[in-house]
Amino acid sequence: MEQNIDRPRKRLFVALLSLSFCCMVLFAYTVWRITYLGLMEINGYLPLLLGVCVAAIVLLTGLGVVGMVGAILGLPLLHAFQKQTYALINLLFPVAIMLGKILGVDRRKIERSFIAVSNQIFHQRHIKVPADRLLVVTPHCLQRAACPYKITRDPMGNCRRCGGCDIGALVSLAEELGFHFFVVTGGTLARQTVKKIRPKVVLAIACERDLTSGIQDVYPLPAVGVLNIRPNGPCYNTHVDIGQVRREILAILTDAKEEN
Ligand code: SF4
Repeated sequence: MEQNIDRPRKRLFVALLSLSFCCMVLFAYTVWRITYLGLMEINGYLPLLLGVCVAAIVLLTGLGVVGMVGAILGLPLLHAFQKQTYALINLLFPVAIMLGKILGVDRRKIERSFIAVSNQIFHQRHIKVPADRLLVVTPHCLQRAACPYKITRDPMGNCRRCGGCDIGALVSLAEELGFHFFVVTGGTLARQTVKKIRPKVVLAIACERDLTSGIQDVYPLPAVGVLNIRPNGPCYNTHVDIGQVRREILAILTDAKEEN
């Protein structure tokens, strides 16, 4: 049995990201040092020019890291750094995974931590959109395996809301609040759906692996992730906390009142 019981630890991803940043600084300095003499021979100003460019990138990335750590500590995220911080956590994620692997940290723990950090940054941006610009996507495994209805293309029309799985409740929620709702069988269909609907925000329901890749796939589109619940193991008759999904959606919609 597989369930979401351990709380995501944001500091794990923050630590790996900070370490990734240190590696990046070291790498940038090494490149600059190695190329120094060669560039000097071409033109005396080139090492300085390269140094300024590298320093600017390192400085901006460093500000992103500081912004992210501040956001995790609950400090308000400066408007100027919101997009940058969001970009940073997405761009340095593969490096963090690589470092985690070297250090023997479980990949799922890193992914869970990444989702928690990404969601927190998302919430601190206070993004609000009308219902018709919000896309909610969920994996096919949320549908009861024995259900005979084909809901991947048209869940609103084809789901009978029999109560056999959580799709029915999501269809009702979509009807009540007016957001776009689709069930996808994989990353390709998810990307096609995003292309077709052209939302301003995506709310994705999935496991750690699919959420991390999905959040990065739709970047720079802001995305918030809700982890599914897997009482029957991965990818089979999964569930989701409908109350959590509802709260997340109400916090995003411009014309909705948030519930406690
Ligand atoms: S709620 Fe919809 S998708 Fe789920 S089992 Fe019933 S008809 Fe099928």
